[in-house]
Amino acid sequence: MFTADRSCLVVVGAQWGDEGKGKLVDVLAESADLVVRYQGGANAGHTVVIGDEQFILQQIPSGILHPGVQCVVGNGVVLDPITFFEELERLHAKGVITEGRVLVSDRAHLVLPYHKLLDKAGEKSQKIGTTGRGIGPAYEDKYGRRGIRVGDLRNLESTAKMLGERIERANALLGMLGATERAGVDEHVALLTKLAPRLLPLAADAGLAVHRAVRDGKRVLLEGAQGALLDVDHGTYPFVTSSNTTAGGAAVGAGIGPTAIDAVLGVVKAYTTRVGNGPLPTEALDERGEALRKLGGEFGAVTGRARRCGWFDATVVRYSARVNGLSDLAVTKLDVLDTFDEIPVGTAYELDGAHCEEFPTGIEPLERAKPVYEVLPGWKTSTGAARKLTDLPSAARAYLDRLEELAGVPIRYVSVGTRRDQIISVE
Ligand code: GDP
Repeated sequence: MFTADRSCLVVVGAQWGDEGKGKLVDVLAESADLVVRYQGGANAGHTVVIGDEQFILQQIPSGILHPGVQCVVGNGVVLDPITFFEELERLHAKGVITEGRVLVSDRAHLVLPYHKLLDKAGEKSQKIGTTGRGIGPAYEDKYGRRGIRVGDLRNLESTAKMLGERIERANALLGMLGATERAGVDEHVALLTKLAPRLLPLAADAGLAVHRAVRDGKRVLLEGAQGALLDVDHGTYPFVTSSNTTAGGAAVGAGIGPTAIDAVLGVVKAYTTRVGNGPLPTEALDERGEALRKLGGEFGAVTGRARRCGWFDATVVRYSARVNGLSDLAVTKLDVLDTFDEIPVGTAYELDGAHCEEFPTGIEPLERAKPVYEVLPGWKTSTGAARKLTDLPSAARAYLDRLEELAGVPIRYVSVGTRRDQIISVE
């Protein structure tokens, strides 16, 4: 993907998240200088498998697994400082050297324990299916202009005062939501006082660092979390996340201008999954859906929640290609389909008696949309050892050709297993 005139790339999930972005970023990070996380928080877990070791990365860019790659947590991320340091410690325990390699935007907002209390209380009254990690309330505070940012730790005295006001408000809200727990000001001040000396040495104007890297022709990878259909503007609102997961959010959340971005790689599974509530038109509610879940290990990396599974939905991916401006596609988990006799692909929807190729706006039409399926033959052969397109059985190649045609975006990578080397790069 990186070439002389493509030095700043975005990797986005082009479905409902969990597409295997972690693996693609890991593959691309090998030739990157800088990897930046631009939105989301500790709800999103990327899983990267190296040899027999499995790494779950929540807030630190997957580039950390490549020695020499610099990692940036951008201003668009809401940072949970407790899990951030736990993550660093887990990496140290596995022998990954992180010193001098991680930089955190001083503009990133903090997720604090009171956000988690609000998240859990809110979920009881408004079921979105959040992970309860405080991400939504932290973004609410950001847009409500009452957030606490990493840079605020430089002045703990005024931040402690600010915390007092924020917590008073949070406790009033908790009362309204019927929660019995309350947040304590002292414990929050103590937490920040303890964290400040660890976090501040990593804090900097991250946008400036990314800008300089782009300007100097370094290879920069902007890594998204979740997927396009969970974008707060373009996703299946209200069953979405609280940030812009789409490629436009990459510029904002990394602190650079959109003209700095050269290409956008959309990651899709060879089928479809989603976590939590909301419509999923091609959901397979039969034993084949169960088989996809089992074969694909479709359980949340962080939460363990079972994912809902179904067939590839080309309407979703076409839409995603449009709102992200995808230049390239990576298809992951092709191997999960190895044992199926036949594989349905959703090519369009039938909506209120009409043929519909565009993704509808709003939950109601989407709930009424019936997928139009085309059934492709399975290949009934293991694909895990394929390293070139020509190693794949012809039915698998035909399947990929059809996905590419329906999505309207060239396939650049095909992933055929969890391991780093199980990838086909399409030249
Ligand atoms: P992400 O958030 O998009 O990185 O996705 P997750 O990490 O939540 O889920 C991806 C899961 O799929 C991880 O367990 C990966 O190891 C696994 N994975 C990625 N690519 C492949 C693949 O091609 N085949 C199989 N079987 N698993 C894969």
